[in-house]
Amino acid sequence: MIFADRMDEVKASAIRAVGKIIAQKKGVISFAAGLPDPTLFPFDEMHAVTDKLLKEDAMVALQYGPTQGHGPLLEKLCTLLKERDNVDAKSENLIITTGSQQGISFCSMIMLNPGDVVITENPSYLGAINAFRPYQCNFVGVDIDEDGMIMEDLEKALQENPNTKMIYVIPNFQNPTGKTWSKERCEKLIELANKYDVIVIEDDPYGQLRFRGESVPTLKSMDTQERVISLGSFSKVLCPGLRVAWMCGSKDMIEKVELLKQGADLQCNQLAQMQVLEFLNNYDFEKHIDKIRTAYGNKCQLMLDTMKAEFPPEAKYTEPEGGMFVWVELPGHIDTTELLNKAIESNVAFVPGESFYPLCDCKSSLRLNFTTVSEENIVEGIKILGSVLKEEIKS
Ligand code: PMP
Repeated sequence: MIFADRMDEVKASAIRAVGKIIAQKKGVISFAAGLPDPTLFPFDEMHAVTDKLLKEDAMVALQYGPTQGHGPLLEKLCTLLKERDNVDAKSENLIITTGSQQGISFCSMIMLNPGDVVITENPSYLGAINAFRPYQCNFVGVDIDEDGMIMEDLEKALQENPNTKMIYVIPNFQNPTGKTWSKERCEKLIELANKYDVIVIEDDPYGQLRFRGESVPTLKSMDTQERVISLGSFSKVLCPGLRVAWMCGSKDMIEKVELLKQGADLQCNQLAQMQVLEFLNNYDFEKHIDKIRTAYGNKCQLMLDTMKAEFPPEAKYTEPEGGMFVWVELPGHIDTTELLNKAIESNVAFVPGESFYPLCDCKSSLRLNFTTVSEENIVEGIKILGSVLKEEIKS
């Protein structure tokens, strides 16, 4: 066999698979995507910063740059993290990554030996589960309720799995469920991570997209033992095509990641890093994010209101305070992977929940995205899905 054993663990992304099916059928209203609304990208501003950079700084913007990232962007991030998240980071604690997806991948590479245990929320982000898989780790999924991961279950998992290397979590408006952790759960997680000496990966691409309620301090701001690696990204608050994100951790960890990045891709796109920095320096970032928050808040509310009117009472769903997703749980006998075929026949699509569970052991949930669908289609699509669900529950 020419392929390495680790490839046995690598699976195709269910989301991309759904995308392929939908592409073959016209007229499907798709709640399956996980993309930000492209109409909210700051087109004029990006045009202006790109023009300026190519006129005034092209020799730097088009040249190789440092592996750790463009120095002024790293400095800007230190200020941003202090102001926004109350995190004291120096440049040495940061590295720019090609999306936070690369950050997740690097965490696996620097930390995981075959057989190590990774604890995740159950369910969790599919892209992270798929990034961990090639490192031949074992997964333990810990259930979440309305306040985040259930801490009694986490402690039990840590006791039962002494070879746990890390806990991967998305405390804000989680992908896929849209759930947010309470401050108490965050504090308890840090306490348990300290007690059982494990690393915490805090993946927070949606943290700025809160449209209701009070924000919760980040895990990184509660970390007194340098055991939290936090991952941030400009994908959901600026534009994902730039692929500019960052990792914040201890100097030791960042040095290891830098070594890996030298071998992986040398550096992130220099022009893209400078475009982000120019945007931050010349425009009102908060105002831009506010626009996204308002648009997503309205769409989310419309989806929830329509679900309330159209879904059968057996369907339970989350009411997110931010982010991009609503999560639906159906009676246990319904397999949403099978249901998807019926839904697509009726011209509506979602992502079946199964692949978000690290052990793929739960089949009766599904994820809905509200950011890329028009308001008209949200109403129409949820009505159709409501009928499909009622039909399924009856049979
Ligand atoms: N983490 C989570 C929880 C996500 O939902 C996503 C994107 N869907 C990512 C990481 C990757 O984001 P990016 O690489 O664009 O920063």
